[in-house]
Amino acid sequence: MKKKVKVKKQVYYILIVIVILAIGAFYGYQKYQEYLYHQTYEYKLSTIGYSIEEAKLLEEKLPAEKLEFILNEKRSDIFVNLAQEKYFIAKEFDNYYAYYLKHKKMEIKDIVSIINCKVDQEYYSLALPTDMSKEEAIIVNKYYTLKEDYIPDDLVNVSMDYAWGNYGDIRVRKIAYDNFLDMWQAASQAGYYLMINSAFRTYQEQEIVFNNYKDSYGEDYALSIAAKPGYSEHQTGLALDIFSKTNSNRKTFKDSEVAKWLADNAYKFGFILRYPSDKVDLTGYDYEAWHFRYVGPEIAKYIYENDITFEEYYAYFLDK
Ligand SMILES: [Zn+2]
Repeated sequence: MKKKVKVKKQVYYILIVIVILAIGAFYGYQKYQEYLYHQTYEYKLSTIGYSIEEAKLLEEKLPAEKLEFILNEKRSDIFVNLAQEKYFIAKEFDNYYAYYLKHKKMEIKDIVSIINCKVDQEYYSLALPTDMSKEEAIIVNKYYTLKEDYIPDDLVNVSMDYAWGNYGDIRVRKIAYDNFLDMWQAASQAGYYLMINSAFRTYQEQEIVFNNYKDSYGEDYALSIAAKPGYSEHQTGLALDIFSKTNSNRKTFKDSEVAKWLADNAYKFGFILRYPSDKVDLTGYDYEAWHFRYVGPEIAKYIYENDITFEEYYAYFLDK
């Protein structure tokens, strides 16, 4: 009888010890979890005034190094507003912030666009080599340049039914031509007759164009009206200057019905209006109602529907 009581007591002690250990373990685990949480940026950011949502957003959009920077600054809406922007690119964080400090009244959306398009930099100052692996989505502008000897190997002659000049004068890459022909048909059904007056230009041809302006009117004027050789999209063989058979006047074409039809329909055939009137500050080019660039249907559709420039698309989706 006595033995049984002893055994019972032992079991009782063991149970107490287990319970104490379990409580200890539970408490320790809680403490450990808390410790871990205190190591997170979510927690650290919340201690300097960011809400949990804001902290989560910053943590999601920015690498540790930038979060450390933010932790050393006073709480500021600018970081949250930047991270919230649709086309925010983490690697441009420093550039956005530096630009913001100099232009505090500017809208955040515009700061992101300016930095993404690189127009905070002087024209022709970067001379970045165009990444040719992007194929029909290669970028050529005042920052990205093609090699002097670059000539696409699939140029085709545009039929004189659709182009001014002599046969062989107007050449374009096959993929752009095939899609232009489809667009021509659609335009024709809408009652318009499209005509190309310029397409592929070699580096040397662009040099002649540029130097002619320069010799006649000076370098500033030349820079305002023509691209420097190596920086013209026409050298890609994917850019077409399109007018109508009855209107090839740069000044009046922009107000024509054909120009409107092209602006609204070109994307269906993989072309974009490359230099729109409301994007001059981002493209670096005055409005050119006639200049269309083949980028492929998927990209063209996105750019058209989201009303952005090719520069913005390229920076956010392709420049990886
Ligand atoms: Zn053009």
